[in-house]
Amino acid sequence: MDEQLKQPVTAVKGIGNEMADTLADMQIMTVGDLLEYFPYRYEDYRLKDLAEVKHEERVTVEGKVHSEPSVVYYGRKKNRLTVRLLVGRYLIIATFFNQPYLKQKINVGETITVTGKWDQHRQTITATQMSAGEHAINQDFEPVYAVKGKMTVKTIRRLIKQAFSQFGHEITEILPNELLQKYKLINRRDALRIMHFPSGSDEMKQARRRFVYEEFLLFQLKMQSLRKLEREQSPGIAISYELDNLKAFITGLPFPLTGAQKRVVNEILGDMKSPYRMNRLLQGDVGSGKTVVAAIALYAAKSAGYQGALMVPTEILAEQHSQSLTQLFEPFGITVALLSSSVKGKRRREMLEQLKLGEINVLIGTHALIQDDVDFLNLGLVITDEQHRFGVEQRRVLREKGENPDVLFMTATPIPRTLAITVFGEMDVSVIDEMPSGRKTIETYWAKHEMLERVLASWKKSSRKEDRPMLSVPSSRSLISWMSRMQSMSIAH
Ligand code: ADP
Ligand code: MG
Repeated sequence: MDEQLKQPVTAVKGIGNEMADTLADMQIMTVGDLLEYFPYRYEDYRLKDLAEVKHEERVTVEGKVHSEPSVVYYGRKKNRLTVRLLVGRYLIIATFFNQPYLKQKINVGETITVTGKWDQHRQTITATQMSAGEHAINQDFEPVYAVKGKMTVKTIRRLIKQAFSQFGHEITEILPNELLQKYKLINRRDALRIMHFPSGSDEMKQARRRFVYEEFLLFQLKMQSLRKLEREQSPGIAISYELDNLKAFITGLPFPLTGAQKRVVNEILGDMKSPYRMNRLLQGDVGSGKTVVAAIALYAAKSAGYQGALMVPTEILAEQHSQSLTQLFEPFGITVALLSSSVKGKRRREMLEQLKLGEINVLIGTHALIQDDVDFLNLGLVITDEQHRFGVEQRRVLREKGENPDVLFMTATPIPRTLAITVFGEMDVSVIDEMPSGRKTIETYWAKHEMLERVLASWKKSSRKEDRPMLSVPSSRSLISWMSRMQSMSIAH
């Protein structure tokens, strides 16, 4: 049955080869393409009170001809017909371009119906259509299609109508019944019919809703399959960490992992072990324990003989991470170094030398990490925190400092799963959706961008470093516009 819709458009009565060529220019090849060629807007023929019509809106009105129409010629072959109409309490002007012959149809005292764009300031309708007599259009909405070349809107309307009467019954559902019911979506055939031949605005909404849903769903499915493909086609390193060792490290932590942490650790380790390159987003609120998860991944990389890098957006965060990771790693003989922009001259040279020799196991820093002279011996794992503050380019540079290292992006910005699939389509997503118990209580404050200075000042006043609240500035410029408008800051005590 579907085969019917895959036929070339010439299967539709009235479409010959020439017409088929014109349609091909509009990317319409098959009967199905024609049926799915959606209008980009609708002509609204419902009569409206001019008082309720906004400037520049399209409108259909009935009016009594109040003056003899006059035609003014200008330029070559150009002319404008104007006529005064009494519409309700309004005396307005209707203008028609290049249709001088309408003069014959317009007689003083008679009623005509015109459709066009309302200019509120000039009290004028620039009309595209008119008919003698009262509003007699039996259709409230008429679809308007984008056309190309010799094609006209009228013609394509006719072709779609013909295609529908010949093949409409062949249109089949592509969404599972379950989803249709769950989301109360109308079926595909009805939806298509309504898109082309709507009779009311409610059903138009339903039809649109159905196709919006369909489009999103197909998009997501496509992204998922791309992701699968991408994973299978991105050779990486299989990091064979030492499990016993790793278990000892995890047991040695000052606290047991939460269920959510265990789950994401397993997801991450699974990726690292696989021969494919990890490309994973780790989302969890501030204080949910992402740093520990990152530490476990870094430990695993080290135990397999690889170096790790942790890139964070600010020096403050770099320092925080460096402190907590040093504490965790020191007992295990893992060397952590902080490469910030304040590391300069001889110290910097020495650090880079150690890095190249593999004497530094974990390097932490800001953009400083992606400078040209930063070379690793064998970078196996790249972690970025609050990753959307880095551009794609920066992430790529860091990634290329190793040979296909595994990559983990950490963020505290809640990203709805659906959006994550859309924005980070090619990534796998892990979520820490559970807070550690017995942790220090966390108060989160959201501060507007303008308050940044003030908040920072009070933060600096905290006497001892350890007492300072934790700052994070999850900018989401590239992500969600409402978030980017209010750059937020959360402070955890
Ligand atoms: P995030 O990076 O997600 O903001 P952190 O990793 O910095 O969170 O963890 C916040 C605090 O909670 C830290 O003090 C950390 O030591 C502590 N913590 C992390 N995981 C646990 C856990 N499973 N049980 C108790 N405390 C934890
Ligand atoms: Mg953190």
